[in-house]
Amino acid sequence: MSAPASECLFCKIARKEIPAAVVYEDDTLLAFKDIFPQAPVHLLIIPKVHCEGLADMTPEAAAAAGRILQVSARLAADHGIQDSGWRLLSNCGADAGQSVFHLHFHLLGGKTLGGKLC
Ligand code: IMP
Repeated sequence: MSAPASECLFCKIARKEIPAAVVYEDDTLLAFKDIFPQAPVHLLIIPKVHCEGLADMTPEAAAAAGRILQVSARLAADHGIQDSGWRLLSNCGADAGQSVFHLHFHLLGGKTLGGKLC
């Protein structure tokens, strides 16, 4: 069972109740640095609207997710990894490694990434 939006960690970050290293923001999205980076560039891109994850997509969250796909290339370029390869992924469910139940995409790059999917 996930936290309600009032208690959700990433909602609190989106509302600026908890500090984060924000690298991009617009009306619907926020991107910030992962607090435990797994690569030299490790950003999290979230919709501001609460949604648990890929299995819980409201139309509003789906629109935001589409926008995340657009913004990710710009963020990769802003962080100098547009030509060296980068990865965008979202874990869905605890068994897939999801630990924060607010939809988010990891943008990873800046090193050679493992070639395996799992
Ligand atoms: P997940 O495991 O796919 O759900 O990813 C959650 C990510 O959130 C992990 O990579 C954590 O390191 C990251 N994280 C957890 N708390 C914070 C925070 O307060 N600020 C930034 N990143 C966080």
